[in-house]
Amino acid sequence: MKVVFLGTSTSYGVPVIGCRCPTCTSTDPRNKRTRASAWVHSDDGTHVLIDSGPEMRLQLLREGITQVDSVLYTHHHADHTAGIDDLKAFNARLGGILPCFGDADTGVSLRQRFAYAFAGTPWVGLIPHIGFTIVDAQPFYVGKTCVQPIPMRHGNIRSTGYRIGGFAYLTDTSGIPSGSKALLQDLDALVLDALRWEPHPTHLSVPEALALVDELQPRKAFLTHVSHTLEHETTNQKIGPRTEVAYDGLTLEL
Ligand SMILES: [Zn+2]
Ligand SMILES: [Zn+2]
Ligand SMILES: [Zn+2]
Repeated sequence: MKVVFLGTSTSYGVPVIGCRCPTCTSTDPRNKRTRASAWVHSDDGTHVLIDSGPEMRLQLLREGITQVDSVLYTHHHADHTAGIDDLKAFNARLGGILPCFGDADTGVSLRQRFAYAFAGTPWVGLIPHIGFTIVDAQPFYVGKTCVQPIPMRHGNIRSTGYRIGGFAYLTDTSGIPSGSKALLQDLDALVLDALRWEPHPTHLSVPEALALVDELQPRKAFLTHVSHTLEHETTNQKIGPRTEVAYDGLTLEL
Protein backbone atom coordinates (compact mmCIF):
# COMPACT_ATOMS: atom_id res chain seq x y z
CA MET A 1 0.00 0.00 0.00
CA LYS A 2 1.16 3.52 -0.78
CA VAL A 3 0.01 6.63 1.08
CA VAL A 4 0.75 10.20 0.00
CA PHE A 5 0.16 13.14 2.34
CA LEU A 6 -1.35 15.70 -0.05
CA GLY A 7 -1.76 18.35 2.65
CA THR A 8 -0.98 18.55 6.36
CA SER A 9 -2.24 21.94 7.47
CA THR A 10 -5.02 23.22 9.63
CA SER A 11 -7.74 25.28 7.94
CA TYR A 12 -5.64 28.46 7.57
CA GLY A 13 -2.83 26.81 5.61
CA VAL A 14 0.83 27.49 6.44
CA PRO A 15 2.16 30.11 5.92
CA VAL A 16 -0.79 32.02 7.32
CA ILE A 17 -1.61 35.11 5.24
CA GLY A 18 0.15 38.11 6.77
CA CYS A 19 2.02 36.16 9.48
CA ARG A 20 5.78 36.72 10.00
CA CYS A 21 6.36 34.01 12.62
CA PRO A 22 9.40 31.66 12.31
CA THR A 23 7.30 28.85 10.76
CA CYS A 24 5.52 31.10 8.27
CA THR A 25 8.81 32.68 7.15
CA SER A 26 10.79 29.41 7.20
CA THR A 27 12.61 28.28 4.05
CA ASP A 28 12.18 24.59 5.04
CA PRO A 29 9.71 23.19 2.47
CA ARG A 30 8.24 20.99 5.23
CA ASN A 31 6.84 24.19 6.78
CA LYS A 32 4.78 24.90 3.63
CA ARG A 33 1.51 23.12 4.35
CA THR A 34 -1.66 22.94 2.29
CA ARG A 35 -5.00 21.85 3.73
CA ALA A 36 -5.14 18.29 5.13
CA SER A 37 -5.80 15.44 2.71
CA ALA A 38 -4.29 12.09 1.77
CA TRP A 39 -4.31 9.66 -1.17
CA VAL A 40 -4.08 5.90 -0.74
CA HIS A 41 -3.21 3.33 -3.40
CA SER A 42 -4.25 0.03 -1.86
CA ASP A 43 -2.64 -3.35 -2.46
CA ASP A 44 -5.47 -4.45 -4.74
CA GLY A 45 -5.16 -1.40 -6.96
CA THR A 46 -7.88 0.91 -5.63
CA HIS A 47 -7.11 4.65 -5.47
CA VAL A 48 -8.82 6.46 -2.62
CA LEU A 49 -8.75 10.16 -1.82
CA ILE A 50 -9.43 11.19 1.78
CA ASP A 51 -11.18 14.61 1.61
CA SER A 52 -11.16 17.15 -1.23
CA GLY A 53 -9.83 20.37 0.25
CA PRO A 54 -9.47 23.76 -1.44
CA GLU A 55 -6.02 22.89 -2.88
CA MET A 56 -6.96 19.41 -4.11
CA ARG A 57 -6.29 20.06 -7.78
CA LEU A 58 -2.89 21.62 -7.09
CA GLN A 59 -1.99 18.80 -4.66
CA LEU A 60 -2.80 16.07 -7.18
CA LEU A 61 -0.89 17.85 -9.95
CA ARG A 62 2.08 18.38 -7.61
CA GLU A 63 2.22 14.65 -6.80
CA GLY A 64 1.51 13.47 -10.34
CA ILE A 65 -1.60 11.60 -9.17
CA THR A 66 -4.04 10.81 -11.97
CA GLN A 67 -6.32 8.19 -10.46
CA VAL A 68 -9.07 8.54 -7.85
CA ASP A 69 -11.74 5.81 -7.72
CA SER A 70 -13.52 7.12 -4.63
CA VAL A 71 -13.47 9.91 -2.01
CA LEU A 72 -13.79 9.25 1.73
CA TYR A 73 -15.02 12.35 3.56
CA THR A 74 -14.01 12.86 7.18
CA HIS A 75 -16.60 15.62 7.76
CA HIS A 76 -18.16 18.62 6.04
CA HIS A 77 -15.86 21.51 7.06
CA ALA A 78 -14.74 23.64 4.11
CA ASP A 79 -11.03 22.88 4.53
CA HIS A 80 -11.92 19.22 3.74
CA THR A 81 -14.56 19.68 1.04
CA ALA A 82 -14.11 22.98 -0.84
CA GLY A 83 -12.23 21.38 -3.76
CA ILE A 84 -15.24 19.27 -4.73
CA ASP A 85 -15.75 21.00 -8.07
CA ASP A 86 -12.39 19.72 -9.35
CA LEU A 87 -13.55 16.11 -8.84
CA LYS A 88 -15.17 16.37 -12.29
CA ALA A 89 -11.77 15.37 -13.69
CA PHE A 90 -12.39 11.92 -12.18
CA ASN A 91 -15.92 11.70 -13.55
CA ALA A 92 -14.26 12.15 -16.91
CA ARG A 93 -11.73 9.39 -16.18
CA LEU A 94 -14.34 7.01 -14.72
CA GLY A 95 -16.96 7.84 -17.35
CA GLY A 96 -19.68 8.34 -14.75
CA ILE A 97 -20.52 9.00 -11.12
CA LEU A 98 -17.69 9.24 -8.57
CA PRO A 99 -18.56 7.18 -5.47
CA CYS A 100 -18.04 9.13 -2.23
CA PHE A 101 -18.53 8.06 1.39
CA GLY A 102 -19.08 9.88 4.68
CA ASP A 103 -21.44 10.15 7.63
CA ALA A 104 -25.05 11.30 7.31
CA ASP A 105 -24.40 14.91 8.40
CA THR A 106 -21.62 15.23 5.82
CA GLY A 107 -23.99 14.00 3.12
CA VAL A 108 -26.66 16.55 4.11
CA SER A 109 -24.15 19.41 4.13
CA LEU A 110 -22.61 18.48 0.77
CA ARG A 111 -26.03 18.19 -0.85
CA GLN A 112 -26.98 21.66 0.47
CA ARG A 113 -23.76 23.42 -0.49
CA PHE A 114 -23.00 21.62 -3.76
CA ALA A 115 -26.50 20.66 -4.93
CA TYR A 116 -25.42 20.81 -8.56
CA ALA A 117 -22.98 17.94 -7.97
CA PHE A 118 -25.89 15.68 -6.93
CA ALA A 119 -28.33 16.73 -9.66
CA GLY A 120 -28.27 13.35 -11.40
CA THR A 121 -28.52 14.92 -14.83
CA PRO A 122 -26.60 13.23 -17.66
CA TRP A 123 -22.92 14.01 -17.28
CA VAL A 124 -21.64 16.35 -19.97
CA GLY A 125 -18.37 17.43 -18.35
CA LEU A 126 -19.19 20.80 -16.76
CA ILE A 127 -19.90 19.82 -13.16
CA PRO A 128 -18.90 16.97 -10.84
CA HIS A 129 -21.30 14.06 -10.37
CA ILE A 130 -21.13 12.68 -6.84
CA GLY A 131 -22.70 9.43 -5.65
CA PHE A 132 -22.82 9.64 -1.86
CA THR A 133 -23.09 6.60 0.42
CA ILE A 134 -23.64 7.10 4.16
CA VAL A 135 -21.29 5.13 6.40
CA ASP A 136 -21.42 4.67 10.17
CA ALA A 137 -19.18 2.18 11.96
CA GLN A 138 -19.58 -0.75 9.57
CA PRO A 139 -16.78 -1.68 7.17
CA PHE A 140 -17.50 -1.24 3.46
CA TYR A 141 -15.74 -1.95 0.17
CA VAL A 142 -14.30 0.37 -2.45
CA GLY A 143 -13.54 -2.01 -5.29
CA LYS A 144 -11.87 -4.93 -3.53
CA THR A 145 -10.51 -2.74 -0.72
CA CYS A 146 -12.13 -3.02 2.71
CA VAL A 147 -12.45 0.32 4.50
CA GLN A 148 -13.23 0.56 8.22
CA PRO A 149 -14.84 3.86 9.29
CA ILE A 150 -13.71 5.15 12.69
CA PRO A 151 -16.40 7.31 14.40
CA MET A 152 -14.85 10.26 16.26
CA ARG A 153 -15.78 13.46 18.09
CA HIS A 154 -14.78 16.84 16.58
CA GLY A 155 -15.92 19.46 19.09
CA ASN A 156 -19.71 19.35 18.99
CA ILE A 157 -19.95 17.47 15.67
CA ARG A 158 -18.94 13.97 14.58
CA SER A 159 -16.10 13.20 12.24
CA THR A 160 -15.00 9.95 10.64
CA GLY A 161 -11.53 8.46 10.51
CA TYR A 162 -10.71 5.64 8.08
CA ARG A 163 -8.67 2.48 8.41
CA ILE A 164 -7.41 0.58 5.35
CA GLY A 165 -5.31 -2.46 6.26
CA GLY A 166 -2.61 -1.36 8.70
CA PHE A 167 -3.09 2.35 7.94
CA ALA A 168 -5.46 4.65 9.87
CA TYR A 169 -6.10 8.33 9.15
CA LEU A 170 -7.73 10.32 11.95
CA THR A 171 -7.85 14.04 11.26
CA ASP A 172 -10.10 16.64 12.87
CA THR A 173 -10.86 14.96 16.14
CA SER A 174 -11.03 16.08 19.75
CA GLY A 175 -11.58 12.57 21.06
CA ILE A 176 -11.80 8.92 20.07
CA PRO A 177 -14.61 6.89 21.70
CA SER A 178 -13.54 3.60 23.29
CA GLY A 179 -15.48 1.60 20.68
CA SER A 180 -13.39 3.26 17.98
CA LYS A 181 -10.14 2.61 19.81
CA ALA A 182 -10.90 -1.10 19.55
CA LEU A 183 -10.71 -0.68 15.74
CA LEU A 184 -7.22 0.84 15.95
CA GLN A 185 -5.14 -2.05 17.20
CA ASP A 186 -2.06 -3.50 15.42
CA LEU A 187 -1.48 -0.51 13.12
CA ASP A 188 1.58 -0.02 10.93
CA ALA A 189 0.90 3.71 10.63
CA LEU A 190 -1.48 5.95 12.57
CA VAL A 191 -2.13 9.52 11.41
CA LEU A 192 -3.48 11.83 14.09
CA ASP A 193 -4.81 15.37 14.24
CA ALA A 194 -2.46 17.60 16.31
CA LEU A 195 -3.16 21.32 15.96
CA ARG A 196 -0.79 22.84 18.53
CA TRP A 197 0.75 22.21 21.96
CA GLU A 198 -2.09 23.86 23.89
CA PRO A 199 -5.54 22.25 24.25
CA HIS A 200 -8.22 23.19 21.70
CA PRO A 201 -11.98 22.57 21.84
CA THR A 202 -12.23 20.78 18.47
CA HIS A 203 -8.78 19.30 17.82
CA LEU A 204 -6.24 17.14 19.60
CA SER A 205 -3.19 18.92 20.98
CA VAL A 206 0.29 17.43 20.53
CA PRO A 207 0.33 16.01 24.11
CA GLU A 208 -3.13 14.45 23.56
CA ALA A 209 -2.03 12.92 20.26
CA LEU A 210 1.15 11.52 21.85
CA ALA A 211 -0.91 10.03 24.68
CA LEU A 212 -3.06 8.25 22.08
CA VAL A 213 0.06 6.92 20.38
CA ASP A 214 1.21 5.55 23.75
CA GLU A 215 -2.18 3.96 24.28
CA LEU A 216 -2.70 2.47 20.80
CA GLN A 217 0.95 1.48 20.16
CA PRO A 218 1.08 1.78 16.35
CA ARG A 219 4.46 0.93 14.83
CA LYS A 220 4.68 4.48 13.47
CA ALA A 221 2.63 7.66 13.99
CA PHE A 222 2.32 10.93 12.07
CA LEU A 223 0.78 14.26 13.09
CA THR A 224 -1.31 16.23 10.61
CA HIS A 225 -3.70 19.23 10.54
CA VAL A 226 -0.79 21.15 12.01
CA SER A 227 -0.90 24.90 12.68
CA HIS A 228 1.91 27.43 12.19
CA THR A 229 2.67 27.26 15.92
CA LEU A 230 4.42 23.93 15.22
CA GLU A 231 7.71 24.43 13.36
CA HIS A 232 8.54 21.14 11.66
CA GLU A 233 12.08 20.36 12.83
CA THR A 234 11.86 21.72 16.39
CA THR A 235 8.56 19.88 16.95
CA ASN A 236 9.99 16.64 15.52
CA GLN A 237 12.93 16.80 17.92
CA LYS A 238 10.54 16.95 20.87
CA ILE A 239 8.19 14.13 19.85
CA GLY A 240 10.31 11.42 18.15
CA PRO A 241 11.27 8.84 17.26
CA ARG A 242 8.05 6.82 16.89
CA THR A 243 5.97 9.91 16.04
CA GLU A 244 6.80 12.47 13.35
CA VAL A 245 5.18 15.61 12.04
CA ALA A 246 3.88 14.77 8.56
CA TYR A 247 4.58 17.16 5.67
CA ASP A 248 3.12 17.75 2.24
CA GLY A 249 4.40 15.13 -0.17
CA LEU A 250 5.50 12.66 2.51
CA THR A 251 4.95 9.18 1.04
CA LEU A 252 4.62 5.95 3.03
CA GLU A 253 5.11 2.48 1.60
CA LEU A 254 3.33 0.07 3.94
ZN1 LIG B 1 -9.95 20.64 9.27
ZN1 LIG C 1 2.83 32.09 11.36
ZN1 LIG D 1 -12.97 20.23 10.96
